[in-house]
Amino acid sequence: MARLVMKFGGTSVADLDHIRNVARHVKREVTAGNDVAVVVSAMAGVTNQLVAWCREAAMLHDAREYDAVVATGEEVTAGLLAIVLEGMGVNARSWQGWQLPIMTDNAHGAARIIDINGGELIKRFKEQQQVAVIAGFQGVHKETGRVTTLGRGGSDTSAVALAAAIGAARCDIYTDVDGVYTTDPRVVARAHRLDKVAYEEMLELASLGAKVMQVRSVELGMVHNVPIFVRSSFERPEDIDPRKPPSGTLICDEGDIVEHQAVTGIAFSKDEAQISIRRVQDKPGVAAAIFGPLADANINVDMIVQTVSADGKTTDLTFTVPAADYERARGTIEKAKGSIGYERLDGATDIAKVSVIGIGMRSHAGVAAKAFKALSERNINIRAITTSEIKFSVLIDAAYAELAVRTLHTLYELDKA
Ligand code: ADP
Ligand code: ASP
Ligand code: MG
Repeated sequence: MARLVMKFGGTSVADLDHIRNVARHVKREVTAGNDVAVVVSAMAGVTNQLVAWCREAAMLHDAREYDAVVATGEEVTAGLLAIVLEGMGVNARSWQGWQLPIMTDNAHGAARIIDINGGELIKRFKEQQQVAVIAGFQGVHKETGRVTTLGRGGSDTSAVALAAAIGAARCDIYTDVDGVYTTDPRVVARAHRLDKVAYEEMLELASLGAKVMQVRSVELGMVHNVPIFVRSSFERPEDIDPRKPPSGTLICDEGDIVEHQAVTGIAFSKDEAQISIRRVQDKPGVAAAIFGPLADANINVDMIVQTVSADGKTTDLTFTVPAADYERARGTIEKAKGSIGYERLDGATDIAKVSVIGIGMRSHAGVAAKAFKALSERNINIRAITTSEIKFSVLIDAAYAELAVRTLHTLYELDKA
């Protein structure tokens, strides 16, 4: 008997049939004697629709009202699942963020959880074996009492934070794939499922484009040592043999993984834009003049490459920003032209970033060099490169993203046997 958090994503609760399937998974764990808290996402497509309505109502809208609107998707699912569970004879009730409460800061649209009160849930587990069905993605701001949301994909974070708060033995993330793969299995058919992946690696995979887990949820799992198990909700509950270990991927400490290959996985993101500032004055303070205003505008700069100047007076500086911030970033640089001093601004939005990740890179030399050769043999031009201890990323034309991912997937022997 254990305390468990089970989280179900949008496609897993897409309609009432799916919700009934989810309820059977929950009942399976309750019958096995576990205390269960369930975290649910909005039904597939609902959050997108709510976001679109906010934009249609007014392109520039109050973030507090945006949260009031988009948080509702999860509330519908939580109520429906509680109804279905009750109908199956399972004692259950739904909870919205403010009812627990799940306290957050006031960064509306991308709020961070500060504290979760799980006391009432634990009391109800003990006294009446009641299943708690919690609306994911939402919380409440401590001081103002206003509803907040945690950023897209935020139900993962609700689930892991809740698992930490109630001291759950495990946080199961049920989704539309049966685990974490070496790369997105919808893009590379030869990708294979990983049995285990270290928090650090999952953190890199997620922040570099693999959307299977929200980045913040992995961070929380790592800090609070919550074992996270990614598995499929589409497996029929009746087909699961409780005596066998379930199939899925465990996100855990690197020390719990016996052998590290040089490369664990490959992530990619097509939502990148590149800006090159030509013939920038090569003098102290220029980088600050460029990146200061971008930071003030809350624009995340990722890869930065500066070429050595030929004449000693000017240089070219290239960096990437999220594609959604491209126009704003250009505008910010143009406004600061006087203090920066440059000749021309070039940019491109059809750019992709492909990243290779693996803790094994710490002990294997020449991992990245192999990739550069393989990409050049495919005539894929690398616009920029960054490296760190357990990953490297290359910036390439978006048209070559899939080819590059497949090439590297084969190169590092990740293809399914
Ligand atoms: P949910 O709605 O359950 O939260 P998401 O759509 O957010 O599910 O995440 C699951 C999706 O993540 C999968 O359908 C898959 O296409 C994508 N994905 C990207 N990279 C990976 C990866 N390395 N392993 C597994 N899934 C991945
Ligand atoms: N419904 C929210 C979204 O679509 C949160 C989530 O599903 O995790 O982003
Ligand atoms: Mg998700």
